[in-house]
Amino acid sequence: MKRRQIFGMMVLATALAILTGLACFVRPPPSPPPSDGATLAGGAVVVYSPGYRVSFFGIERLHPFDINKYDRIAAHLRSEGLVDPNGFQIPPEATFEQLAAAHDPHYLRSLADAQALSAALEVTVPFGGAAADKRVLAPFRRAVGGTIAAMRAARSGGFAVNLGGGFHHARPEMGHGFCVYNDVAVGIAQLRADGFTGRILIIDTDAHQGDGDHAFFADDETVYSFSMHQGSIFPSPKLDGDRDISLPSGMGDAAFLDTLSSALPELMAAAQPALIVHVAGSDVLSDDPLAGLAMSPEGLIARDVMVLSAAREADVPLVHLLAGGYGPSSATAQGESVATMLRRWAEAP
Ligand SMILES: [Zn+2]
Repeated sequence: MKRRQIFGMMVLATALAILTGLACFVRPPPSPPPSDGATLAGGAVVVYSPGYRVSFFGIERLHPFDINKYDRIAAHLRSEGLVDPNGFQIPPEATFEQLAAAHDPHYLRSLADAQALSAALEVTVPFGGAAADKRVLAPFRRAVGGTIAAMRAARSGGFAVNLGGGFHHARPEMGHGFCVYNDVAVGIAQLRADGFTGRILIIDTDAHQGDGDHAFFADDETVYSFSMHQGSIFPSPKLDGDRDISLPSGMGDAAFLDTLSSALPELMAAAQPALIVHVAGSDVLSDDPLAGLAMSPEGLIARDVMVLSAAREADVPLVHLLAGGYGPSSATAQGESVATMLRRWAEAP
């Protein structure tokens, strides 16, 4: 290697070290105190906190993850006049006890170690301990708290959205696929602790299989775990759920919506749900870098409205979670989807 190349690499390494170091001192996003927010038209509730945003040592730039997605969707709902600035329900972080009601406590404690945390995130986190807890784990715990809040709100008002969550790859004793805690499992454990005994249907339409949800509820007959996903991508191998539909890449809107439309009546009949949880990832979109289902924003909105309509027709409360989605059009499409659903919900049935 020539001396000039070595010098160039040293400059690059130094610049990266400085940038990484600077990223350490970026202030974490504000975490406003918990608030009940407002009940919107028709009884809907939207749960959100700026504290969902992960910002730590630049990992948010290493993973193809739009860290501003939640904030942009919240801003869209405000600009459309659907939620006023104090209208969002702001959740507290899920507590260790709440997380441990679903996850193995040994696994939860292991996340203090940088290596274990890096393995769960599939991104190298250079330090563990208090700094990682505050900047990485706390935002995830806040989003899990959001799903708990949304599940409780949906039970009373019929429809609730968490502008986050849907960490459907996290398993009882293991995190992977950028999912550390499984908010659906932790939320359901809380509902059970609240005394809710009704059957629950998970409808997972994210491009990736909800293997974590399948793992949690494999032996639980009160929870029906359904996933339709692109067969050729992460996770591999897949786990068996109560029902899975493996989709080919390049599927497009019409075939995707046909498949969902045919499946929904069968799912409702098989699950007999008293609550539906929709894990509604936007990585089905054609510009997603990690998947290839080739859907349009209009197709995504139609998918979400289809699940909302099925829930409403059956008079079953619905929790909507944003889950994965990493492409340039993700925030815009999901923002318009949530806006459309809130408008539909506000209309008289
Ligand atoms: Zn996904």
